[in-house]
Amino acid sequence: MQLLRYLTPNSSSTDAAEIGVQQGDRLISLRTLIGPETGMRELIEAWEAWSNRITEFVASGPDSVPTADARILAPLADPRKVICIGLNYADHAAETGAAVPTEPVVFNKFPTAVIGPDDAVELPPISSQVDYEAELVVVIGRRAKRIAPTEAMDCVFGYTCGNDISARDWQKGRPGGQWLLGKTFDTFAPLGPAIVTRDEIADPHQLDVKLRLNGETMQDSNTRQFIFQIDFLISHLSHVFTLEPGDLLFTGTPPGVGVARKPPVFLKHGDRVEVEIGGLGVLANPVVSAGSN
Ligand code: ZN
Repeated sequence: MQLLRYLTPNSSSTDAAEIGVQQGDRLISLRTLIGPETGMRELIEAWEAWSNRITEFVASGPDSVPTADARILAPLADPRKVICIGLNYADHAAETGAAVPTEPVVFNKFPTAVIGPDDAVELPPISSQVDYEAELVVVIGRRAKRIAPTEAMDCVFGYTCGNDISARDWQKGRPGGQWLLGKTFDTFAPLGPAIVTRDEIADPHQLDVKLRLNGETMQDSNTRQFIFQIDFLISHLSHVFTLEPGDLLFTGTPPGVGVARKPPVFLKHGDRVEVEIGGLGVLANPVVSAGSN
């Protein structure tokens, strides 16, 4: 199932965001079934109770709207945690000459960084080195505390596309060697368009991951290049903190980021970045200077 959050032409504010199921090029609103107060995170938490009812509802031929008429929002606006993995592609490690890590690099973004498809990535005035990173994002579906890798995939709700926007001049070389600030400027976590439930993805470790900048392919790899696979990552993290429904896990980026290019390429006002992941669609965002939109 492909779940989206969106506004219709009649909606007045994001308070009116609907949750719907994508069927072909149309969206079926779940509002009459799940109620207007149920957000995506609540739906994920209660998925076991809802999933059969939603399947029956969708099959009953309810009203739908053309997806093209809807404004698609971030599929999940209020994650409790946005967790990110650093160097996680073998081909990226080879490209940079970095040693393959023996343990994942883990950092985070704040939920305030999340934006949806077509929302603008804002270039902060205090950075001149803003970069893109196409990433598969895992959406957690169940509470997970100290679980084994063999149980970890049961904790996955689904997948979506993410762009781990990074201010390189704040990620490295700033006080403390801490990545947080460079990774969590507002708008630095584009997400979407849909959350695709895990039953629709035969193998999350066989997905093409691409990024285009103004139409030019800059990143082109596959999740089979992961150094640390999803089951390992979930188990590993769950031994430190409890994963909860709706938590997001950015799984690292393949080769081709702007900072590694010669000469380096950084985002500028007027750019358009698109992340495309096999089976998950395209996440496209314009780039603007802060204060210009
Ligand atoms: Zn990243």
